[in-house]
Amino acid sequence: MIDRHGRKVTYLRLSVTELCNLRCRYCMPEDGIDKKHHDEMLTEDEMIRAVEVAASLGVNKLRITGGEPLLKKNILSICRRAAAVPGIREVCMTTNGMRLPELAKPLREAGVRRLNLSIDTLDEKKFAHITRVGKLSDFMDGLHAALDAGFDKIKLNAVLIGGFNDDEIVPLAELTRKYPVDMRFIELMPMTGNPEFGEQAYVPCSAVLEALPEAAPVDHDGGVATLYRLPGAQGNIGLIRPLSAHFCAECNRMRLTADGKLKPCLHSADEYPIKGLDFDGMKAVFEQAILGKPERHGELDATHMSEAGRSMNRIGG
Ligand code: SAM
Ligand code: SF4
Repeated sequence: MIDRHGRKVTYLRLSVTELCNLRCRYCMPEDGIDKKHHDEMLTEDEMIRAVEVAASLGVNKLRITGGEPLLKKNILSICRRAAAVPGIREVCMTTNGMRLPELAKPLREAGVRRLNLSIDTLDEKKFAHITRVGKLSDFMDGLHAALDAGFDKIKLNAVLIGGFNDDEIVPLAELTRKYPVDMRFIELMPMTGNPEFGEQAYVPCSAVLEALPEAAPVDHDGGVATLYRLPGAQGNIGLIRPLSAHFCAECNRMRLTADGKLKPCLHSADEYPIKGLDFDGMKAVFEQAILGKPERHGELDATHMSEAGRSMNRIGG
């Protein structure tokens, strides 16, 4: 379906849970979030119905995210059923990787083709600090399990945080020489109101190119990242610049939160509830939401916070 601004919506990001086994400081409060009542969250059947509705409107790519999607008990069944929906060409997942040692193979077998793994630092102590509770060795075990499981593509995502990991651009980028993975750097979006991750923590993606003078531009792969490659590397370096070069004009996505709210724009408070609706009811709301997709988000920079009205773990990053 095409929105009012001529953009074809082909991509749905489905958050299957708000819960997480990490507590990344820029994403989530320390004590987690209040666990909502079961009845407030989408059921597996409702999630699959929403994917069917989206596919009937032209969505062909699905990303499963959260919270941490691998905490969801029925995640394999959700992936398997979503991958079988006619019209869905690709099911991908964004995960922190902690549970990949046991789940990488079953996920691949359930039809997940691509993985994005989040890794902000390669320093054990810094990893424990930023995630509050995580261990870098668990991430590395998860990465190796994913590499062994034969996914079509693995991309690593690091959020650039001034004073925290802007001195690790080179070692993070070197992962593309060591492994067949892309390494993408993402500008920190001001989502939480936490001053620690406000203006002084913002680093523009141009810092990546300054740190990697050998990186040469390569052709765009249809995603939101601008791509480069280091000589001899097996994968690309990607720059994702929601602040310094927002990509609203090419935005082809909708988000569905775990509590059943369709969000046509990450940085807008507009939400369209679909919980409890049958196929036709959901389809009508999807159409309304796509037509309500704003042309671009409001002011978003190191001093203007996102108007999303939810933390990232509750939206589905
Ligand atoms: N738990 C999974 C993970 O971490 O990959 C999936 C959900 S998480 C919300 C998805 C992505 O959003 C992660 O790569 C995370 O680093 C990113 N993210 C969270 N808060 C962000 C922020 N304020 N700015 C930029 N990226 C953010
Ligand atoms: Fe959890 Fe992902 Fe948020 Fe970290 S970024 S707290 S892993 S949802």
